[in-house]
Amino acid sequence: LDTAKLHNFVTSNCMTYQINTYGCQMNAHDSEKIAGILEKNGFLEWDESSHQTKKADLIIFNTCCVRDHAEARVFGNIGALREAKENNPDMVIAVCGCMMQQEGMEQKISRRFPFVDIIFGTHNLDEFEKYIHEVIIEKKKIRQIQEGMEIIEDLPIKRAYNKSAYATIMYGCDNYCSYCIVPYVRGRERSRDMEAVVQEVRGLAKQGYVEITLLGQNVNSYGGNGNNASFPQLLRTLNEIDGLEFIRFMTSHPKDLSDELIEVMARCDKICKHIHLPVQSGSNRILTAMNRCYSREHYLSLIHKLRAQIPDIAVTTDIIVGFPGETEDDFEDTLRLMEQVRFTSAFTFMYSVRTGTKAADMQHQIDKKIKKQRLHRLNALQNQIIQEDAPGYINKTMRVMVDEVMNKKDEVKAKAENTKTVFLKGDPHMIGKVYEVKIKAARAGALVAEII
Ligand code: SF4
Repeated sequence: LDTAKLHNFVTSNCMTYQINTYGCQMNAHDSEKIAGILEKNGFLEWDESSHQTKKADLIIFNTCCVRDHAEARVFGNIGALREAKENNPDMVIAVCGCMMQQEGMEQKISRRFPFVDIIFGTHNLDEFEKYIHEVIIEKKKIRQIQEGMEIIEDLPIKRAYNKSAYATIMYGCDNYCSYCIVPYVRGRERSRDMEAVVQEVRGLAKQGYVEITLLGQNVNSYGGNGNNASFPQLLRTLNEIDGLEFIRFMTSHPKDLSDELIEVMARCDKICKHIHLPVQSGSNRILTAMNRCYSREHYLSLIHKLRAQIPDIAVTTDIIVGFPGETEDDFEDTLRLMEQVRFTSAFTFMYSVRTGTKAADMQHQIDKKIKKQRLHRLNALQNQIIQEDAPGYINKTMRVMVDEVMNKKDEVKAKAENTKTVFLKGDPHMIGKVYEVKIKAARAGALVAEII
């Protein structure tokens, strides 16, 4: 691979790139790697705010197939580039991400959008540099979708923020929840070597990062593939790193949340008082149909243990309404669970069919009108809980990290370890710093605090 030739070509033509990222934090972090590879090869990030009429020289769609209508949205956006590509055949268009791992997707995109230059899957990211070379220098087209289990370390990363960083600790998922496509497109679960994660985080702390978010589809089962480490052990080790202030992680699966992990969360001062623990439904019948492998009673017992050991811990969740066969009684079980737990926030979704999953073929799919009504009722209850619980924050103390200066010159916005948005008096020097604050006023959406 003649990287010098590619670099010369890119820099002498001042080539720019634009990445369109869909989906979760895992994808956002993959986009940071894509940006890292491009900048290593001399590309500049296309500046959207400059309102140039010219588009970027290389446009990438990093796709997701987990959410509803993902395909339609991505196809619409690729199709919108048809004319620009006809006018400028040198423009490079690439499509990647987990949607590409779906059976037949590469052929579908090639047929409908033959002008797309590069199509590659989630397991081919380490070869992206080679693909750009082949397209730009050798004028080839690339179609590469692999099945892969290997973990590639040391890809260049262009971090989107300079105080807060993501670190993936594991890839794939073995759980096969019946509605979810992830195990089919991201492959079986595999964990990064603990030493590699620790080194990465240590390096980030040295560069001045204060917040780290550990990513994985099911972080609680980290290390399960025989590399001897466990998630609690990893957290204990990271908690010792100087300079690091906030350790976050997502996503936790209730069936794998151990007493040891709760104890480590309670003991380690850098681990944020927050857990994202998707419950998905409050009905045991639906949880079984979803293949979630826990009951509502087990979930509630976890919440009890968490709150007993970590007072004020924020619990956030994901909930699906209208799963096939969900009756009014099942849905009311979910409402009751929401009332019992009183989540800090909830990401709520209407069930939508994912071709290739078990739930897609289940009988008794729920009418869209009913799903919409249930979603509306669920969101109304959650909003009511947030409103009712807001005054309870007054006079509480919490740690926050300042991340933005507000229009009002003497006000800054911060994110609390419990995920709440907090406003306080301050100036730009405070960005990226962590403060202990006392809450003075509370609204549903945000808190107002003073540094103590
Ligand atoms: S745990 Fe379930 S919902 Fe989460 S990624 Fe794995 S299969 Fe999907």
